[in-house]
Amino acid sequence: MIIRMKKDVSEKDIVLVRERIEEVGLTVSISRGANLVIIGVIGDITLIESDRIEELPGVESIMRVSRPYKLVSREFNPLDRVVNVKGVKVGKDNFVFIAGPCAVENKEQMIETAKIVKNVGADMLRGGAFKPRTSPYDFQGLGEEGLKYLNEASLLTGLPTVTEVTGEDKIDLVIKYADVIQIGARNMRSYDLLKKIGQKTKEFKTPILLKRGDNATISEFLNAAEYIAKEGNENIILCLRGIRTFECGKFLRNTADIGVIPILKKETGLPVIFDPSHSGGKRDLVLSYSMAAVAAGADGLIIEAHYQPESARCDGQQSLNADELKNTITLCRKVVKEIKLLPK
Ligand code: PEP
Ligand code: MN
Repeated sequence: MIIRMKKDVSEKDIVLVRERIEEVGLTVSISRGANLVIIGVIGDITLIESDRIEELPGVESIMRVSRPYKLVSREFNPLDRVVNVKGVKVGKDNFVFIAGPCAVENKEQMIETAKIVKNVGADMLRGGAFKPRTSPYDFQGLGEEGLKYLNEASLLTGLPTVTEVTGEDKIDLVIKYADVIQIGARNMRSYDLLKKIGQKTKEFKTPILLKRGDNATISEFLNAAEYIAKEGNENIILCLRGIRTFECGKFLRNTADIGVIPILKKETGLPVIFDPSHSGGKRDLVLSYSMAAVAAGADGLIIEAHYQPESARCDGQQSLNADELKNTITLCRKVVKEIKLLPK
């Protein structure tokens, strides 16, 4: 249920509504815009007599939330959310570039790549220590050793880190090192993992980067985010990374779902970023996909980069070298600037 308050509502009237709701054991979530106060009700709304709420001073109208993914929906919380990662803001008017290798391979690779990421002006550093690979014979990541190298690279450059958690048994370890915890496309439907992460990050609200599953509908994707939010952490960044279609194979690894960006932006106030690397799966597609995603309204990009892409142990074919990353970020910044000048 959403309670829309009158334009000139007083603090006293807001408190009164909150108390009425809390006295039946439900919780509220209050969103404040420039000229708008919305009170969202969480819990079993049959416990509330809506007539009694409607007649309170300050209440403009009451609406039922129709979306199953309530907490993350714009219907429930109409404002643009900003996720703050150690001072780097994502969402609303804050565009971010995240870059780094697919996997942390060794100390030199991580440090050298991090220096590039820093030099080209990116905002965060990515690198997987636990890699979900299709083949069990492929490099699976360095585990905690990888997290340590990522951390060293972060301390050296001052860049916050993004790294993936692949299973419930690794959550505590990843929380210890990561500034943003990534949940990969393969795990978007691991509901126990989503719940556990929500519970374990509830206290400090560690930001979560949730990737869309390669065959998940928009609604399934938002429901996955809701699993985390419901446990008490709404610091979620959504990430589109391409989906599986008939075209996947020779020309494309996945099909870029750039067209979903404006839909997600309408459905949710959570920041939406785009991964041009896994979308196309090829280095020479990254620039055009990146610019298209920015133009479509993305709040950021997560790009795979490597100091020596040709020797990468994972996803080298889609990783950019220093010059390519620099060029991509420079050109995308121009698009970001133009987009910001457009009337909203
Ligand atoms: C990755 O970010 O390296 C990764 C494995 O991504 P995805 O989950 O989108 O496949
Ligand atoms: Mn990868």
